[in-house]
Amino acid sequence: MTETNLFEDEVLWWSAAAKGQAEALAKKLDPKTKLVRKDKSPLWRFVAWFLFLVSFGYAKRERMYEWMAVTIGRRVYIPSTWTLGEAIAVLPHEVLGHVAQYKRYGLGIHWLGIVPFLVIYFLVPFPILWAYGRAYLEAEAVKADWDYRADYIGAEHLSMELLRIDVNSWVSRIRGKGYAFALLSKTAAKDIFWSAAVTHITRKVGAWHVDA
Ligand SMILES: [Zn+2]
Repeated sequence: MTETNLFEDEVLWWSAAAKGQAEALAKKLDPKTKLVRKDKSPLWRFVAWFLFLVSFGYAKRERMYEWMAVTIGRRVYIPSTWTLGEAIAVLPHEVLGHVAQYKRYGLGIHWLGIVPFLVIYFLVPFPILWAYGRAYLEAEAVKADWDYRADYIGAEHLSMELLRIDVNSWVSRIRGKGYAFALLSKTAAKDIFWSAAVTHITRKVGAWHVDA
């Protein structure tokens, strides 16, 4: 079976046919990364409770098992309902963004970064509405994702329009319940995500300044 067929067949990422490919990309981005099914992880069950509490009940636990990919330390927890294509699509954000952040806050040791990361993500300077720590960490991961696309897929395959759509979607998502209402101010959200991704990638790709 070729890569193309795997995507077309919408194979679940953890199935025997697909897991090797997902893991190969994850390990290429950071050799220590481990992919884990969310619904099979005792740690994730604990984290789902934690998110449920800090979001004042908005982050429903059952929904969160099927909903988003979440990175803790060097482990990327992916919903078991996701296809290989869906899993592959989030890996640059999760690994080059978040796994790298845990490693940085742990001074090179992923698990040591877990407490500092979670404190910044959930408490700095407030858990909701002014959660700038969460917004900055997500914006940095968005930037890492676009950096990856520019480097490995090629700048010629990117478009300013796609970048704008992605960044605008993050501006609204970071202020919504999926990210526990991280920012009250839309202007602040725009400043953070646009300066992280659009400004950076536009400078990198250069040619986009025409339609920016
Ligand atoms: Zn993220």
